[in-house]
Amino acid sequence: MALGSPPEEGTVSVVVRVRPPAPCERERAAHPVLHVVDDNLIVFNPDVPSGPPGSVMTTRVPKHPGKDIKFVFDRVFGEGATQDEVFQHTTRGLLDAVLSGYNCSVFAYGATGAGKTYTMVGSESSPGIMYLTMVGLYEKIEARKEKSCEVLVSYQEVYNEQIYDLLEPKGPLNIREDPDKGVIVQGLSFHQPSSAKHLLEMLAKGNRNRTQHPTDANATSSRSHAVFQICVKQQDRIGGLTRDLQVSKMSLIDLAGSERASVTNAKGERLREGANINRSLLALINVINALADTKSKKTHIPYRDSKLTRLLKDSIGGNCRTVMIAAVSHSALAYEDTYNTLKYASRAK
Ligand code: ADP
Ligand code: MG
Repeated sequence: MALGSPPEEGTVSVVVRVRPPAPCERERAAHPVLHVVDDNLIVFNPDVPSGPPGSVMTTRVPKHPGKDIKFVFDRVFGEGATQDEVFQHTTRGLLDAVLSGYNCSVFAYGATGAGKTYTMVGSESSPGIMYLTMVGLYEKIEARKEKSCEVLVSYQEVYNEQIYDLLEPKGPLNIREDPDKGVIVQGLSFHQPSSAKHLLEMLAKGNRNRTQHPTDANATSSRSHAVFQICVKQQDRIGGLTRDLQVSKMSLIDLAGSERASVTNAKGERLREGANINRSLLALINVINALADTKSKKTHIPYRDSKLTRLLKDSIGGNCRTVMIAAVSHSALAYEDTYNTLKYASRAK
């Protein structure tokens, strides 16, 4: 099978996006803990006096008075970055890989409120990576004549270690692995958006279906992983002959909040959710760390440890390409989350 020039296989590139302070945070944003130096360097200053009045600062950040902690990434987006800039420098480069038959994935990682959903989903007036990827993909497909192409999308949620369909609400659904077709979620619905507007409506509907819990302090979707998958089926159009069907997919994932489960007032049902969220997130962290540690030698990658990593087994590592977008806020209120996110993200490279 001719696949064109192979992309860098099994690699994870890591970028950071700093979200702007919300209007209500502006007056308290007196102690920004982050300084974006250039496109690759971000400096974290942990020397925050005692935190804004009323905040509880359980400091686990190492204190280096007078010293900044520098983090280098494949790209750093400051608060002025637009949705399109973030798309151009993270996901656009993966479109050719997907059309060449490789599976690719893009994750938004970070604490609740850091800007993951804004980055991946966005709003109708400022659509995010899920939408921009579809538009970019259609443009590329239309420019090619030599292949026939079918594009199908699905949108699912991993919540409490169970998989649910977000577009035709149902579940929990089972996963199985097919030797030829890869990972299959049984009963998951696939859709063909008829227009850009239709796609936006589908994403909005899917997000409304993300599990919501009235007793949860961080109500909307902070405990679920949302997985939008674009399946591309291609066939050569040569002399009317049917050639090998080539199937590849792009997974765009809005992860659950990475704040520690122990921080929430977790009891009973909520505690189990917290533990399970840690399980999927921890498993993903372990998979990505294992890939980062073993760029040269072959080692065991622990895909089987959670639903999320099983679901994405054929989309991370191997010959796939992965981009992780770490979302952070520079508000001193969230500085511990910010530090943890930067620390993890820099280890993932
Ligand atoms: P998360 O999904 O990580 O919990 P959200 O994406 O919901 O966080 O972002 C929290 C709030 O900040 C939302 O109101 C969102 O619209 C806003 N926000 C996040 N990132 C940006 C950005 N880059 N520009 C403007 N507003 C943003
Ligand atoms: Mg969110």
